[in-house]
Amino acid sequence: MSTWIQSRQIGPATVHSLTDGQFRLDGGAMFGSVPRALWERATTPDELNRIRLRINPLLIQLGGENILVETGMWDQGGEKFEAMYALDRDETVFRGLDALGLSPDDIHLVINTHLHFDHAGRNVTTLGDPTFPNARYVVQKQELHDARHTHERSRASYLPAYIDPIEHAGLFEIVDGEHELRPGLSVLPLPGHNLGQQGVVLRQDGQTLVYVADLIPTLAHAPTAYIMGYDLYPVTTLDTRKRHLGQWFEEGAVICTPHDPDTAFAQLHPNPKGGFTLNPAQP
Ligand SMILES: [Zn+2]
Repeated sequence: MSTWIQSRQIGPATVHSLTDGQFRLDGGAMFGSVPRALWERATTPDELNRIRLRINPLLIQLGGENILVETGMWDQGGEKFEAMYALDRDETVFRGLDALGLSPDDIHLVINTHLHFDHAGRNVTTLGDPTFPNARYVVQKQELHDARHTHERSRASYLPAYIDPIEHAGLFEIVDGEHELRPGLSVLPLPGHNLGQQGVVLRQDGQTLVYVADLIPTLAHAPTAYIMGYDLYPVTTLDTRKRHLGQWFEEGAVICTPHDPDTAFAQLHPNPKGGFTLNPAQP
């Protein structure tokens, strides 16, 4: 079986798009108030109205360090959980690292864009230990707070099982707002999906790459009002998009989405109807 890795150079940094498998979510929930007649032009739902998605962690190799953005999908949910999300785990983040000659011990820094189970689920091993024991795990202060103080609408998205061990091991590096982690590598708050979500911005030698997290989960979500029903603050998502997309377009940024099923690296293009579309980036 071939391992799904797409790689790209951003100045001195090598960026590898890995995958932690595929899953499915309800198409209506994924596109919020957008009618199916519109979204199904972009993606065909299955007989349960679910659309195909992928888990897309990113490995950034910069300055001799291996920096992992997102750890992957929770893998201890049991049969019912796996069936509900139609999990296909033929490919994993571990297989991707292995293909690059790396083990979890070689990761120096983990960036948790947020703590939902499909993004941070691999923070711990099946034994409950930190998966990446030599790494600090960067998270926003707001996000850690909200993961600890859930309500009926957010509770299903967070599991203490992959959060507590990282906290107890003292491995969280808690940041508050925009923060430069390494020269030319920053995290940036992208609120809307929830309040504490952060994206990752890599700027090297005049090139820019942005990991947008669930601000834009797939390429099909680029139109400004194509906002997930899962978002807790959809109008904030709208504002966050308006605040940043124009600048990223002007920079010619390479855009990485967390769940596009087919494309690792994308590029913004102006939409004649306003806003932007996302298309696969030129190699
Ligand atoms: Zn997600």
